[in-house]
Amino acid sequence: MRGRRRIRDHTVATWLVHGPPRSAKWDFAHHVVPPLSSSTTYRLDSVERGTRGFTDFGALVRDTGEPPVYVYDRLHEPTRGLLEGALAELEGGDACVSFATGMAAISAALGSVLRTGDRLLAHTVLYGCTHSLFTNWYPRQGIEVDRVDLRDPASLARGIDERTRVVYLETPANPNLDLIDLAAIARALAKANTGRPPERKALIVVDNTFATPFCQRPIELGADLVVHSLTKNLGGFGTDMGGAVVGPEANVRDLLLYRKDFGGVLSSKSAWAILVYGVSTLTLRLKRQQYTARKVAAFLEAHPLVERVAYPGLDSFPQADLARRQMLDFDGDFAPGNMIYFVLDEAKVDPVRFGDAIAAESYSVTLAVSLGHAKTLLELPAAMTHSCYEKGALGFERGGVRISIGLESPKDICRDLSRALEASRRRSAARPRA
Ligand SMILES: *Cc1c(COP(=O)(O)O)cnc(C)c1O
Repeated sequence: MRGRRRIRDHTVATWLVHGPPRSAKWDFAHHVVPPLSSSTTYRLDSVERGTRGFTDFGALVRDTGEPPVYVYDRLHEPTRGLLEGALAELEGGDACVSFATGMAAISAALGSVLRTGDRLLAHTVLYGCTHSLFTNWYPRQGIEVDRVDLRDPASLARGIDERTRVVYLETPANPNLDLIDLAAIARALAKANTGRPPERKALIVVDNTFATPFCQRPIELGADLVVHSLTKNLGGFGTDMGGAVVGPEANVRDLLLYRKDFGGVLSSKSAWAILVYGVSTLTLRLKRQQYTARKVAAFLEAHPLVERVAYPGLDSFPQADLARRQMLDFDGDFAPGNMIYFVLDEAKVDPVRFGDAIAAESYSVTLAVSLGHAKTLLELPAAMTHSCYEKGALGFERGGVRISIGLESPKDICRDLSRALEASRRRSAARPRA
């Protein structure tokens, strides 16, 4: 157990329920639940105030205690501002800039740093749309993307040159839960950065969507920027899309400018739902989901139709030592998260039949993409979220299955998985697919 993390003398779990005792962003003295604002534009007392709204806006990085000058929703908005304050605090960054979706946040984090002629170094396994951004769009913009296996930190030195501006990774990676040693990557990058002028230093950008700040805080371990899909674990209920970037003041100005000019703002209604329902229940949900994930992972590991299970909480996990060092909750306890990846024995079960059996017969497990909800969601990455990858490329297999554990009883989840496995074995045996 590492030190217990606190925010202004409160345990994080309590702070997540109550938020800051005071914020200049809104009158907290008389609301129990943060108000939901919904005004695209703001009354200006004078032309001078209107001008100040525009000139000050890039400087509004921290909650200074001074009420910001609100002018127009796409610049600054109070409900969104409250959510951003909470996320910056949780991740331990100077500030947070929210976006309409996780992909809007990723493209802004990278787009605000990269120029034509720059290079980006990324881990081999990434979320499918991030892979698509790197393979379909960046080459058109003259940005080269190199992919290496960052599980070996030594590969960083081999993949980097003076044009590399960003090292990009997910840990745990979507979908196969590869872990990357953030402290080791930060040390290797510090070496590669020596002698570079500050504006040319390469940055580490970490997609922390799978872990959430409950399981891991990458900035504490040396990352520069953290990105999130708020649609997933942080939103928690599957009602709203959102994204966020957390980082140092030096980067936040450009992120705000990027959001203002490219326009991918988070709606205040979504920000409100993510703050009021998602953030305040993060600890509760993740603790329960982890408890269940350990049981489901153990069940799958013992199942004869399952070839291999990747869950950071299993002793058999190939990077179990790293998981125990890096994935720690706010109290310093091991926090392996709510995501499981497993590979079916394809000689005995057809993965498509298994997915169809879940869709047709399972009550507690839903065949659906996305993750981090109250409901357990199961999908086949090779056929769905990661179908943009070349067949057989980059280490996740056709028989791979991703599960996001929800809030159901572990017994019900295991029973539904067991039934679908048995049903699809019989069907595969009776009618082998070509
Ligand atoms: C879903 C996801 C994203 C994209 O988020 P959206 O909100 O769907 O745009 C990015 N990274 C990871 C790891 C994800 O799982």
